[in-house]
Amino acid sequence: MMRIALLGATGSIGASTLDVVQRHPDRFRITALSAHRNVDALVDLCQQWRPEIAVIADPALERELAKRLRSAGVDARVISGPQGLIEAAEGSHADCVVAAIVGAAGLESTLAAARAGKRLLLANKESVVMAGNLLRTALEQGDGLLLPLDSEHNAVFQCLPRERRNLAECGVRRILLTASGGPFRGLKRSELVTVTPDMACAHPNWSMGRKISVDSATLMNKGLEVIEAHFLFDAAAVDIDVVVHPQSIVHSMVEYRDGSVLAQLGNPDMRTAIAYALAWPQRIDAGVATLDLVRIAQLGFEAVDRETFRCLDLAYQALASGGTAPVTLNAANEEAVAAFLDGRLPFLAIETVIESCLERLPHGFVNDLSSLLDSDLTARREAQRIIASLAA
Ligand code: NAD
Ligand code: MG
Repeated sequence: MMRIALLGATGSIGASTLDVVQRHPDRFRITALSAHRNVDALVDLCQQWRPEIAVIADPALERELAKRLRSAGVDARVISGPQGLIEAAEGSHADCVVAAIVGAAGLESTLAAARAGKRLLLANKESVVMAGNLLRTALEQGDGLLLPLDSEHNAVFQCLPRERRNLAECGVRRILLTASGGPFRGLKRSELVTVTPDMACAHPNWSMGRKISVDSATLMNKGLEVIEAHFLFDAAAVDIDVVVHPQSIVHSMVEYRDGSVLAQLGNPDMRTAIAYALAWPQRIDAGVATLDLVRIAQLGFEAVDRETFRCLDLAYQALASGGTAPVTLNAANEEAVAAFLDGRLPFLAIETVIESCLERLPHGFVNDLSSLLDSDLTARREAQRIIASLAA
């Protein structure tokens, strides 16, 4: 029986994870669940799953959660705040941690799970972008296993040999990440001036949380994924390419030196990646419909429109700059996306905020968490100043 701590249980990845887990009561048990502020949703999940630990990230809600769980007859230990998330990630109640919190808020619990040697199912790409090197060190320390949930990286993982040292030794020429192109594929900049948050969140193929949906619309999601691939697979930036594939059926590919290209295909449903990572190296039922290639009929591929969607190049730039540039990129993006979702920033200004932050801030090398968090804070403050000045 694998015991699972699900961090970010009330989100989209959280729901997909619970859907897969519920299909296999003989294999998996949920021992910890976390939410940010949604006490109602967390109480419901706790009633259903009976975890040992319930974490509410906002400490101001800890007492309310404890009270609500007591009256619901749920006997879970209630903890809160960043420290509560860390405890849930590293404690002996779990063998496996699903890192499904969105944004930098997931960083410390992700690192803690890696350090504690858990089987780490990683959806929280922002933590890899911010702290790829620290995460690698933590994984070495804990001698744990990281299985990517991001569909592209999960696909690449599936297309690489099981026993691998480095990509060159495996004969890999390049990693090819596919991108749907998002809801605004084919539009020009003049058509993007007035797009709204609801339009940006209406992804053609995937149903996801609002932050990653906006990232998909700006193509920053693919930028973050290039950096994620760099750290997860030890791939140089020049060996990671992106191709637009509007159907989201080919989830990514690995090209080998002999010209072979291995791809992983499937319906756009995160439960495939989640089931793969939960059961690896075995395969289990995920509840995903059989891929009907005849109905899909055509798989299309096209180049990224880098003139219109500049965020992808900003991510490649940040990766080339190294040091804290990816931290700045991520922090500025999180602030800009939040401002866009709040109606405080136009869509096209998201990239302006990120570009200005990358230009203005130094990108020194840091190798400890507290300096990295300082850089994150500095970038957020700078981004907020720029957002305020653009709104004025
Ligand atoms: P979501 O917004 O649906 O859910 C986010 C979860 O994180 C919720 O449980 C929320 O309570 C929690 N959370 C939010 N802010 C928090 C904070 N400050 N502290 C603690 N917890 C907090 O997001 P999602 O779509 O499930 O995405 C989660 C992560 O997975 C993101 O990093 C995203 O990039 C990645 N991802 C998602 C998908 C997808 O299909 N949804 C695909 C690939 C990768
Ligand atoms: Mg992805």
